[in-house]
Amino acid sequence: MSVETTIEDQTDVGEVQNFINGEYCPSGSKRLFENRSPASGALLAMVHEADEKDVDRAVRAARAALHGPWGRMDVAERAALLEKVADEINNRFDDFLAAEIADTGKPVSLASKIDIPRGAANFKMFTDVIKTASTEAFSKPVNGGAMLNYAVRKPLGVIAVICPWNLPLLLMTWKVGPALACGNTVVVKPSEETPSTAALLGEVMNACGVPAGVYNVVNGFGPDSAGAFLARHPLVNGITFTGESVTGEAIMHEAAHGTRKVSLEMGGKNPALVFADCDMDAAIEGTLRSVFANCGQVCLGTERVYVQRPVFQEFLERLKAGARTLKLGAPDDPQTGMGPLISEEHKRKVLSYYQKAVAEGATVELGGGVPDMPPALRDGHWVEPTIWTGVDDDAAIVREEIFGPCCAVLPFDDEDEVIRRANDTEYGLAAAVWTRDLARAHRVSAALDVGICWVNSWFLRDLRTPFGGTKHSGIGREGGLHSLEFYTELENICIKF
Ligand code: NAD
Repeated sequence: MSVETTIEDQTDVGEVQNFINGEYCPSGSKRLFENRSPASGALLAMVHEADEKDVDRAVRAARAALHGPWGRMDVAERAALLEKVADEINNRFDDFLAAEIADTGKPVSLASKIDIPRGAANFKMFTDVIKTASTEAFSKPVNGGAMLNYAVRKPLGVIAVICPWNLPLLLMTWKVGPALACGNTVVVKPSEETPSTAALLGEVMNACGVPAGVYNVVNGFGPDSAGAFLARHPLVNGITFTGESVTGEAIMHEAAHGTRKVSLEMGGKNPALVFADCDMDAAIEGTLRSVFANCGQVCLGTERVYVQRPVFQEFLERLKAGARTLKLGAPDDPQTGMGPLISEEHKRKVLSYYQKAVAEGATVELGGGVPDMPPALRDGHWVEPTIWTGVDDDAAIVREEIFGPCCAVLPFDDEDEVIRRANDTEYGLAAAVWTRDLARAHRVSAALDVGICWVNSWFLRDLRTPFGGTKHSGIGREGGLHSLEFYTELENICIKF
């Protein structure tokens, strides 16, 4: 992925350019890097890396657009434009789907149900929110007269949107949708692994008549590249980030210069708590998805599965049986249930945990290695779905985020014990609780120190609800009205009369 070249070295492979002020632009420094298929290793395109001047142009274009036709639109006009964007994503569903599965290697069965529909829905939902959002007003007598205080909601300004590779369109529009609905302009830095759908969205913006400069995309890496240039740009008013916790910390440092707002959605080490009184079929079905969906590369996915002792063996056998049926294969095959990891580098990381598990004395119940794939997929970044037992709570595979298709299954005896163990982590993103006891469901879910807790389900989302993490999993909440808190400033107007 990170092989670099220059425009002069180019062959006839496709290109992904930056999108600045409504136009596709080559890299100012003429530096390009490869975008390769995670499934096959095939070269998909060369990507133009934005240099510091490109990023500056994008931020300045975004700033200028705040004062152009976009800035003068009322909420209804803006909402109508963004609804068109959602419709146009759906009109071009197949283009977005092809780009997303090529970049990520994820199965078409997943991307067609989750990634692209949610990419469009993120625009529709936030236009609904902004159209109905209210502000507060207070009046009270003062010195024989009165005062009236009321709040007006204003856009924050230029928003930097720094994105990961695991759900590229979905997580990017999760930020861009509300940012634009609130009247901001954006500069998006997609992951270097998955640049294509952010670039394609530029075509949609132009086709829908979104004014130039409102939506910009700069490609590149993190440190000493587009990500860092964007985060430190003094004309950026807020940074919204999804990615690893260490990267979020670096971004927060940058945001301190100029006192910029940050919203950080970061890593997790999410537990599932399976009680003996659960609906076992539902618990198995949900845990198979939460561990293995998207090859385990879901921030909300489960990597620690605590199972109450009376059902431990039954649960383990059924989880293994279910995982054995996962079909690894080409992303465009509708039968494929699991794709590859995103990159060679990530494969090395995941396999290092597979080795660490063995070194720490884990019993490898399933997988633990690299699958034998057909010749066309042999250069992809494939690993086996993996299940471990027999480890202590302080093992690295129980404490550190792996972000692969794997989990440790650990027995527990009682409720207090499992709550304590589930909370014994530096992360606090998500949890899943499987029980038929309603009182226990309420008790346990409230006791878990996480941003979202599912009971008898996983990955169900109502986009109006608060989303975010506690501890090292993030700062702030986005979703519904909570997104407005980040993407707008409230000005209080106090009138004496
Ligand atoms: P990453 O932190 O490596 O990269 C994310 C983005 O930040 C990329 O665009 C990258 O180029 C950029 N970046 C890296 N260093 C930077 C720097 N110093 N300054 C500015 N930008 C920089 O994360 P990733 O590997 O792409 O994604 C996987 C991680 O994301 C996992 O930890 C996962 O848990 C997390 N994640 C969290 C959520 C959530 O909602 N909490 C959702 C998805 C993924």
